[in-house]
Amino acid sequence: FPQEALRPQFRQLPNVFYSDVAPEAVGEDPILVHVNRAILPRIGLSPEAADTVSFIEVMAGHRLVAGAEPYAAVYAGHQFGHFVPQLGDGRAVTIAEGETDGQPWELQLKGAGRTPYSRFGDGRAVLRSVLREYLCSEHMAALGIPTTRALSVIASREGVHRETLEPGAVMGRLAPSHIRFGHFEYFHHRGETGRVRELADHVLAHHYPALKDRKNPYAALFEEVTARTAKLIAQWQAAGFAHGVMNTDNMSILGLTIDYGPFGFLDLYDPSFICNHSDEMGRYTFSHQPGIAFWNLKALAVAFTSLVPMEELSAALESYGPAFDAAWIGEIRRKLGLEVEEEGDFELAASFLKILEETKADYTNSWRSLGYFLRGEEGAPSAAPLEGSEWVAAWQARLEREEAGRDEIAARLDVANPRYVLRNWVAETAIRAVEDDFNLGRLDEIFRIITSPFDPHEGNEDLAAPPSAEMCGLSVSCSS
Ligand code: AMP
Ligand code: MG
Ligand code: MG
Repeated sequence: FPQEALRPQFRQLPNVFYSDVAPEAVGEDPILVHVNRAILPRIGLSPEAADTVSFIEVMAGHRLVAGAEPYAAVYAGHQFGHFVPQLGDGRAVTIAEGETDGQPWELQLKGAGRTPYSRFGDGRAVLRSVLREYLCSEHMAALGIPTTRALSVIASREGVHRETLEPGAVMGRLAPSHIRFGHFEYFHHRGETGRVRELADHVLAHHYPALKDRKNPYAALFEEVTARTAKLIAQWQAAGFAHGVMNTDNMSILGLTIDYGPFGFLDLYDPSFICNHSDEMGRYTFSHQPGIAFWNLKALAVAFTSLVPMEELSAALESYGPAFDAAWIGEIRRKLGLEVEEEGDFELAASFLKILEETKADYTNSWRSLGYFLRGEEGAPSAAPLEGSEWVAAWQARLEREEAGRDEIAARLDVANPRYVLRNWVAETAIRAVEDDFNLGRLDEIFRIITSPFDPHEGNEDLAAPPSAEMCGLSVSCSS
């Protein structure tokens, strides 16, 4: 690793914020399954660095990054609505921190062994869940949705015990910071308000430098986190993404999507979709996500009460609803091919979704078909029956009030509505290719498709289809 890129970030904080812990290797003779070469320059490495033995050794936890001190961070969190006073990086170890082109970064290994925060866990990750996180992080980035990033998947030759013995793996994960709402909750609920302030100062200095000079930087920070969270969740809803475990320890202080577990993309449009089979009460139902994010922001507000008067936090919280609505309709306008803003757009969007719901149409493909529809082009993915409908007439009339012409609007639609999303069955196909056939070429092919999801990928049209009967209702739980 280039020494000039290394710079302690979170590691600069006093050691009450973390524990020194070295990653534990995934076992002898680890197998490099995939590297996201394109992202290596972000940490000051060339894409060719992926071909070196030392890179694999580092990403497998066999070798420490010279000049960096690994650690696991402590945090708390509300899990399914219940406060847990201490969680933390139970199976993630930050192995290096740095700054490249003025942008801070943290490199973590997920699945790299036990830490002081592992509780009953083994500190490991199974290959299937690593592949899901790896693919989905990069897919979300390609969709333009803020997220932690994925750098590498290294499989172990040692098994990991879950319901059965499964192949294990370790993932390289990258973000400007992995700080969660739960980091603030941990210190607040211990009454350590000085530490809350120290953490807020750190986040401001490293990640929100523009806010440092505001009259009350802490209030500004809370407002900005609220705004980013509203925007993020609006993007999830528009993309049809269900996170599955929106606990406050899985909410990023930078407004990133973090912690990919039992997530799922909508196949048919069903607002009551629950992607996590362990979520018996349906707390994290697709349609609940905007409200849950608000609930989580309220928990963060509580953790900020020593920094900002409650009235100011309440005022910021009140901006969440309007910020979400504005971001959501902004996303949906794009998906409808609209640039001009009109009051009636909300109605137009709602009636489109109603048709999707009533006809049990595929969410992604129904959006994607709009461009084809406008061009009168063959080959549209099978979608909601729009032909000759009242809705189409209303949409077409609305398009007349855009400045752009049909062709331009159709082109806009194709870059707003992905052809491919990482459906559970597609992720499962990638997993089976690796686990059953060790077909890394197929994994790479799926990786390339879902990281350029707006492009047509000839010969792989089938990966844009809803699941077959056999692949329908695959069970994903928290077990990972
Ligand atoms: P999650 O449900 O993925 O957000 O994880 C909740 C907490 O459990 C976090 O503190 C994780 O680090 C920890 N955790 C999850 N899986 C494991 C594991 N296999 N070993 C140790 N800790 C784990
Ligand atoms: Mg988590
Ligand atoms: Mg997790």
